[in-house]
Amino acid sequence: MVPVIALVGRPNVGKSTLFNRLTKSRDAIVADVAGLTRDRQYGEAVWQGRPYIVVDTGGLTGDEHGIDSIMAGQSLQAIEEADAVLFLVDARAGRTAGDEMIAEHLRKRDKHTFLIANKIDGADQDSIIGEFAPLGLGEPICIAAAHGRNINPMLEAVLVKGDIQAAPELDEDGNPIERPPVTPIGTKIAVIGRPNVGKSTLVNRMLGEDRVVVFDQAGTTRDSIYIPYERHGKPYTLIDTAGVRRRGKVFEAIEKFSVIKTLQAIQDANVVIFVVDAREGIVEQDLHLLGFVLDAGRALVVAINKWDGMEPGEKEYVKKELERRLIFTQFADQHFISALHGSGVGLLYKSVDQAYESAMTKIPTKRMTEILEAAVEEHQPPLVNGRRIKLRYAHLGGSNPPIIVIHGNQVDSVPRSYTRYLENVFRKVFKLSGTPIRVEYKGSD
Ligand code: GDP
Ligand code: GDP
Repeated sequence: MVPVIALVGRPNVGKSTLFNRLTKSRDAIVADVAGLTRDRQYGEAVWQGRPYIVVDTGGLTGDEHGIDSIMAGQSLQAIEEADAVLFLVDARAGRTAGDEMIAEHLRKRDKHTFLIANKIDGADQDSIIGEFAPLGLGEPICIAAAHGRNINPMLEAVLVKGDIQAAPELDEDGNPIERPPVTPIGTKIAVIGRPNVGKSTLVNRMLGEDRVVVFDQAGTTRDSIYIPYERHGKPYTLIDTAGVRRRGKVFEAIEKFSVIKTLQAIQDANVVIFVVDAREGIVEQDLHLLGFVLDAGRALVVAINKWDGMEPGEKEYVKKELERRLIFTQFADQHFISALHGSGVGLLYKSVDQAYESAMTKIPTKRMTEILEAAVEEHQPPLVNGRRIKLRYAHLGGSNPPIIVIHGNQVDSVPRSYTRYLENVFRKVFKLSGTPIRVEYKGSD
């Protein structure tokens, strides 16, 4: 599971600055989830090959009332969902009453908390440590988010020495929840989408047809539920982010949609079924979520749900809109379905299987190189400073998504349009559908 780190602290201590620094390295797409979690931002980041999720909270003043207390509620929920909390304080402003109140709150919680003194630029670290020690959260880790100072040691302290992976989930009485281990089998499918698009209904449909084995589990607030099963003798595991199988009392209402759950499900899936409500169309939040799917390189099938009862004119309009707004997911199959009535659901499986096979495809280096040579022959790469870019051979560098590694000279100068051309050639020749493809270059000069 990808660990989740929440940034907490008074306004202006530098949370967004740190958030941007942590997530930028990877062009992370920030899901600003409107409506439900107005003031929380979620981003994905990677440090030394370790992915993690960063949550930027709205900011606690330590003196909450009115709108502030609503914001505080959001911050508190972010703390609840996180594996570790980075509590930021402003080294230039010194310790404030607000800091003390937040610290008091954090001390009462059983959460990994790291005290981070930001804005140390040029200041004497010993005096900063002395200043913040009374907060009772240990010695602060001193950083300057705006200048990127000490970020690596901080991440090492949190992600490596902090050992934050293992936090058990607690039930309402504060006891650790014991769950039988579930071994995913076959293709891992995550059904994701905004609240109310019909995910639960679809998951029920998908399991309802020809279901052979289902292991039921008690759910928890944060982790998705893994449901291994077979269909026509083929193994699958559904990652249920919607909480269909959940029996708990409070969960349904409050935690039906969780960004963290969605992000983790995307990370862990082989194929994502992205559910859209035909009546609502594609909204900003859909694009954010899709951004995460693309970023993770997952295979993708788009299900436009609630197609039942739509007027012909409406259908026409929705199709046009999809074409316009989903131009960046052209590789993915689209299905117009009714999860409620079951129409189109069987065809989804066909696309899922195809996307999975494409994503996991194995192609020998010899064959890849042949195709590269033929593509180059057909359409030469451009000249750079009077010299032609030379692409010599290709091999498969990974799967889900397939990574095509191309070796050659002056590869830094390959134009994007040429990369797209090669991508399309490989896609066509190897019949890769439903999965993004990554092309990477390795230079020999
Ligand atoms: P947030 O409200 O906690 O999200 O704080 P912001 O990230 O918006 O930062 C508040 C202000 O502090 C901005 O003007 C930042 O440029 C500034 N800031 C952030 N990090 C540093 C730092 O390391 N050094 C200095 N001097 N200023 C910083
Ligand atoms: P979730 O929040 O994404 O899990 O959405 P639900 O599965 O709970 O569905 C939200 C609402 O949409 C419920 O009232 C469903 O009955 C309704 N719904 C789901 N699928 C369909 C569909 O295909 N057609 C219609 N008309 N309604 C649907």
